[in-house]
Amino acid sequence: MEAIPLVHASLGERELAAVAEVFASGWPAGQGPKGKALEAELAQKYAVADAVAVSNCGAALHLALMALDVSPGDEVIVADYTFPAPAHAVRYLGAVPVFADVRADTATVDPQAVADLVGPRTVGVIAVDTVGMPADYAPLRAITDRHGLFLVEDAACAVGATYQGRQAGSLAEVACLSFHGRKGATSGEGGALLATDPALAADARLRSSFGIGSIFDMGKVVGLPIPEFTEIGYNFKLSDIAAAILQVQLDRIDELLARRTAVAAQYTELLADEELTTTPWVPEDRTHAWQSYMVTLDASVDRAAVAADLRAQGIGCGHGAWATHLQPVFASGDSCPVSADLFHRNLALPMHAELTASQVERVVEVLRGSLRTHSTSTRILGGAA
Ligand SMILES: *Cc1c(COP(=O)(O)O)cnc(C)c1O
Repeated sequence: MEAIPLVHASLGERELAAVAEVFASGWPAGQGPKGKALEAELAQKYAVADAVAVSNCGAALHLALMALDVSPGDEVIVADYTFPAPAHAVRYLGAVPVFADVRADTATVDPQAVADLVGPRTVGVIAVDTVGMPADYAPLRAITDRHGLFLVEDAACAVGATYQGRQAGSLAEVACLSFHGRKGATSGEGGALLATDPALAADARLRSSFGIGSIFDMGKVVGLPIPEFTEIGYNFKLSDIAAAILQVQLDRIDELLARRTAVAAQYTELLADEELTTTPWVPEDRTHAWQSYMVTLDASVDRAAVAADLRAQGIGCGHGAWATHLQPVFASGDSCPVSADLFHRNLALPMHAELTASQVERVVEVLRGSLRTHSTSTRILGGAA
């Protein structure tokens, strides 16, 4: 039985060759030649003032909120249905995440829910491009402008997606990318902060290296000027090894995205007549990066039983994203019924650039059979009831 994993990072010979170059250069640490070149490439690709390469997207979100002066007691409105990194970042600073529900049709944050949650202590909003689907930035921007709030785009999953012709990652004044092994472009672990304000990026870059700037640059200065530590910084740097891998991955992004897009189209076509699943819908004005392909199961289906069937057949699957407000660490009185419903009914199917058409067919065949076994719907022939 052939295993079909949920995710698979497309890393190969080209990435290995790029790593070999870094080994030969003698500078494997961060903020060296490869890191700087990656930052320049990202700033150009996204047409932003500056890009800061960092160790992961969680660090990018943390740096973004520090640079935006988020302080204890401030409220930041966050999209509820997501990997819960945005709410973690808010809590790093002693601020309060306020959870906004999502649209049922796109699973991205509902602008009306955001508007309803703005209060006297609100300082900003973190929207999430849910598993690669850009959020509604035009109405979100209108809300944040009206109230003088910042808007951060968590584009962790969205490298390659677009909204109204613009790239995800350039849809707010600050955007955070992830290059984790489960995302569309990866260096194993990695991330970036993109900013339209160069001063904000400079602040983030400084705090990402203990507050003293590039050690690589220091080695090239004539004389011995000794930098002073004037504030507490962190070590959130991306290594030049990872940066070199990412230069190759970004060069391949169109090819990798085209393959994931083809996989998504095949799933959607094969499941079009399946009554027990709802497939993702992509509004006309945006394109999806397909970090994950999630279907929403009919309420009559026992999701855990279906997942167990798939896994028993060697097919990887997952629950998708989280309803953040339901996680014990965030337990809040906030109500996000749509997010909670998706959290309980979504199922992520295998999605990566190396899936073949016959593997996708097999996933759908096993899924369809299992849905019938584990649905209590009387509409469905062969249902358990
Ligand atoms: C994966 C993910 C993150 C975290 O990215 P890391 O690089 O692993 O820190 C943040 N936000 C969202 C929406 C994600 O999906």
